[in-house]
Amino acid sequence: MSVAQSPLPTATETLSGRFGPYGGRYVPETLMPAVTGLEEAYRAIRTDEGFWAELDHLHRTYTGRPTPLTYAARLSNHCGGAQMYLKREDLAHTGAHKINNALGQGLLAKRMGKKRIIAETGAGQHGVATATVCALLGLECVVYMGVDDMARQRPNVFRMRLLGAEVRGVDSGSRTLKDAINEAMRDWVTHPESYYLLGSALGPHPYPTMVRDFQSVIGREARQQFLEATGRLPDLIIACVGGGSNAIGIFHSFLNDERVALCGVEAGGVGDGLGQHAARFSFENARPGVLQGTYSYVLQDDDGQIALTHSISAGLDYASVGPEHAWLHDTKRATYTTADDESALDAFYTLSHKEGIIPALETAHAVAEAMEQAAKMRPDQLILVNLSGRGDKDIFTVADALGMEI
Ligand SMILES: *Cc1c(COP(=O)(O)O)cnc(C)c1O
Repeated sequence: MSVAQSPLPTATETLSGRFGPYGGRYVPETLMPAVTGLEEAYRAIRTDEGFWAELDHLHRTYTGRPTPLTYAARLSNHCGGAQMYLKREDLAHTGAHKINNALGQGLLAKRMGKKRIIAETGAGQHGVATATVCALLGLECVVYMGVDDMARQRPNVFRMRLLGAEVRGVDSGSRTLKDAINEAMRDWVTHPESYYLLGSALGPHPYPTMVRDFQSVIGREARQQFLEATGRLPDLIIACVGGGSNAIGIFHSFLNDERVALCGVEAGGVGDGLGQHAARFSFENARPGVLQGTYSYVLQDDDGQIALTHSISAGLDYASVGPEHAWLHDTKRATYTTADDESALDAFYTLSHKEGIIPALETAHAVAEAMEQAAKMRPDQLILVNLSGRGDKDIFTVADALGMEI
């Protein structure tokens, strides 16, 4: 039996939608029937072996799972400390972990008899993954995207259109991810017969649990691969945290292994002032609040207005964070740090030069933290880094930062 086929470790958990005080379902009454309908449908497939077998088959024959585990020998040498291993989600179809969730929810939508899919996207990776899955499963696809993000990520906008999706620009608010989610939810209110395919471990219950379940394939595979490669578990696991789906996906299989330290890396941006970063746990001005259907840490001003955020990576640029991370933070099961734009760029170049892997800028935040931690650790210690995605989409941003034109 392959790893991906193993039963969901969470299948016996109750579907409460709460992680300590966090999570929940804060949606307008008009959306309630759609959200509870989704919860019922997810409950039904959660223990349905046929569903998971079909998803597993598609992962093996379409997504390219299991993705490899790569020992980063030259990067480890370069840092002169712990040995680093990379879980290669960059090699999954469409270039990031996003496909794990999009395919899972796409199959669920199909089972629910849905014909039209709505999605939001920030960097465009979730939009591309969703458009891909809709093409594969024969579903209509509408993707909302902030117009500023559309300008930053033009190749992904074109990709979505090539895949047959309709991309709708959103020019309200900060014209980024938060506004795209608002618009997608508005669409869902007026078209409750559509399926809203949310892209991270965020939003009202059941999304944080469901998205985590679909992403936990990363950690299940990585755990077995790491044991096979090294004979033991890692000392430290590092992942970048935007909404938190790739991080919770790799953390989840290790939550009960108390000796495995878990570290999430947020976008430190260009400074610690409000509006200069997207670090929900690390600086002042982050405190619990409700944003877009869930109770979690939210970057806000003294009046509770949602703060603007900044990151060189569009995928980490969001004012809130998945509620399960808020709970892991408060209970200290995981620690959360930041990498700023500059150290992310530096890690981007270093990984490219030392390992022949061009990472996504989001991912480069995790690599930056891994390089820093590795240097402080012993050579017999082991770090597992979630390489959430590849950097093709970011070459224009990086060229800009270098003052070059492609
Ligand atoms: C979207 C994205 C992220 C951030 O989203 P999470 O839900 O926090 O995982 C990180 N890395 C890559 C490559 C992405 O595309």
